[in-house]
Amino acid sequence: GPCAMRRAQLKRAGLRFNRGLIERLQRSLTASKRCCVSCPPLDAPRRMVIEAAERQRLEQEHGCTGPALLGRLLTHFRVKDLAHPPISNFHVGAVALGASGNVYFGVNVEFPGHPLSATIHAEQFIMASAALRGESGLTHLVVNAPPCGHCRQLLNEMDGAARLGVHVVAADGSLSSTGHPQLLPQDFGPAHLSNDSGLLASEANHSLALPVQHKQLKELGDEALRAANRAYAPYSECPAGVALRLDDGQVFGGHYIESCAFNPSLPPLQVAVVNAMAHGALTSLHQVREIALVELARSKVSFARTTYIGNARFHLMHA
Ligand SMILES: [Zn+2]
Repeated sequence: GPCAMRRAQLKRAGLRFNRGLIERLQRSLTASKRCCVSCPPLDAPRRMVIEAAERQRLEQEHGCTGPALLGRLLTHFRVKDLAHPPISNFHVGAVALGASGNVYFGVNVEFPGHPLSATIHAEQFIMASAALRGESGLTHLVVNAPPCGHCRQLLNEMDGAARLGVHVVAADGSLSSTGHPQLLPQDFGPAHLSNDSGLLASEANHSLALPVQHKQLKELGDEALRAANRAYAPYSECPAGVALRLDDGQVFGGHYIESCAFNPSLPPLQVAVVNAMAHGALTSLHQVREIALVELARSKVSFARTTYIGNARFHLMHA
């Protein structure tokens, strides 16, 4: 049957639920690649990370390297078509080169029914995707719109941010290039809170464990715990992780990523959504069926009341 959001849409439209109508609606949604009436068309699922070896092949194919190649890939792979902005309808696509040689794509994702602060920006998507892959740094970022202040601040969390090249694609396809420090003069950074490291600098392991009674949630709980153990939470020291189970049974985890300025921090739910999208497994938030959150009991920072997507079943586990 239709999901809760589709039922609500039908109800608002004053339509009676009948099988024929629902089937016609499903067919029209499938034909237009939409997940629901209010969502923009979604492209076919695709992986959003290019391995270093494949990048080298693309360098040959396109006859360019570095930021020029990234700009070409942004257009070539129509990255912004993968964005999910049902609130703003403003599609952002970004692409970054990692120190490993991998290439990371990012898009903006908006969450209807949540505060706007739940939004994932394309640059945040890339930071999360790179962190999930254990990337050690980013060297160049190309984006189809100027990075907002929020993203400039989150990028500043990254170890090596001072050496990051930032390039905005102009209407004619040319790149307007600068360095990250020029985008954030008089910056507030990790060092102000006595953090001499930074995001992507090293892999955390908080050695958290779950009590035995959560064994019935084995796979989902284990993934959320794995994520919590990787959390980047140097300021609050409140690690947290989320795991999502999709309608096809696939499970994806995401770890909490903090910013020294606090507000640009990425909650573990958002990072798990990035993980599922980066694997080409998630094209609609309606696909999320079950969510597990692992955090500390009596945590100063808690996601227990803000971790939800639609009617997905929620499990809270204290490590
Ligand atoms: Zn932004």
